[in-house]
Formats: sequence, C-alpha cells, structure tokens
Amino acid sequence: MTVTPRAPEPTDLTKNQFRSSKGRTIAMMRVVVDLEKCQDHGQCAFSAPQVFALDENGRLSFRSAATDTFVSADLDESLRDDVEEAAEACPLQAIEVEG
Ligand code: SF4
Repeated sequence: MTVTPRAPEPTDLTKNQFRSSKGRTIAMMRVVVDLEKCQDHGQCAFSAPQVFALDENGRLSFRSAATDTFVSADLDESLRDDVEEAAEACPLQAIEVEG
C-alpha cells in the first residue's frame, strides 16, 4: 500500500495560535523577562500581580527559576492587558510579551 502525504491545509493561524480539539482558536502568550536587566523595582508586580511578584527578599520571584532569562508558561489571554501594562511600566524594559 502506498501512502501519499497530504499537503498541509491552509490555515489562518499565526505562529502563536493553535486550534483546540473543539475547533476554537487559542492564542498563546508568554512573558520573557531579562533578569540581567531587571533591577527588582517591582512595578510589574503592581501592574500584573497575577504574573509578577517579589519574594521575601524584595527580588523578582522568577530569579529562583532562571538566572539570565525567564520565560513563563503559556498565559491566559485574559491577562494580556495587565502584562502589556507591566512591560510598559518596567523602567528597565526588561519584559517582553510574546504572542
Ligand atoms: S518592573 Fe522590570 S525591573 Fe522591576 S521587577 Fe519588574 S521586570 Fe524587574
């Protein structure tokens, strides 16, 4: 039996989107924090406390998970406004929002 590979179907999805099993388009969003730029000012924690926090030593909590660059897990789209505000508020421009 010969199997003919199928051409990929055209899609309107961007590289940061995928289709759920129920056919819904889901956007993926992540934050990337340059921990070498970050100086633990904490403005991000005020803008998006669901994502950013300072630890008991007043340092960005992501420092326990990474040394130079922290990449978050996929974040819910409902957090977009807050994380974009955090990126704008960061005085060191250490935060990027991907997706
Ligand atoms: S606002 Fe910027 S510099 Fe301040 S803790 Fe957040 S990422 Fe770091």
